[in-house]
Amino acid sequence: MEKDCLFCQIIRGKKPADFLHRDEFLVVFKDIYPQAPVHLLIVPRRHIRSVNQVSEQDGDIIARMILKGKEVAKEEGVAESGYKLLFNVERGGGQVIFHLHLHLLGGWR
Ligand code: AMP
Ligand code: ZN
Repeated sequence: MEKDCLFCQIIRGKKPADFLHRDEFLVVFKDIYPQAPVHLLIVPRRHIRSVNQVSEQDGDIIARMILKGKEVAKEEGVAESGYKLLFNVERGGGQVIFHLHLHLLGGWR
């Protein structure tokens, strides 16, 4: 838990979010400024700054994030039409919240 991290605060219930899923490893909530008809964020509970800080020991959580993305894509009805799973990495890569998260974007048709 990083006390100044927005996503840590959302995970701890100290800031609101529209959750689709919560388990002991990760949470899924709606992006507040959606860039697609369906725009979700898949966020590990553990604070990791970005993909640059991911190590080999984090293989399990990364796999869980992708598998959860696949599941919620199906639940949200975008699995067949298609979707993007995206990591922005550091400022030049468009990252503005420095707590690892996987974007799920879809639902264009
Ligand atoms: P990134 O640019 O990859 O760091 O993505 C951060 C994302 O978090 C952006 O798409 C924002 O719209 C989203 N975001 C910022 N604040 C909130 C919030 N309070 N609840 C949900 N999503 C948020
Ligand atoms: Zn955090």
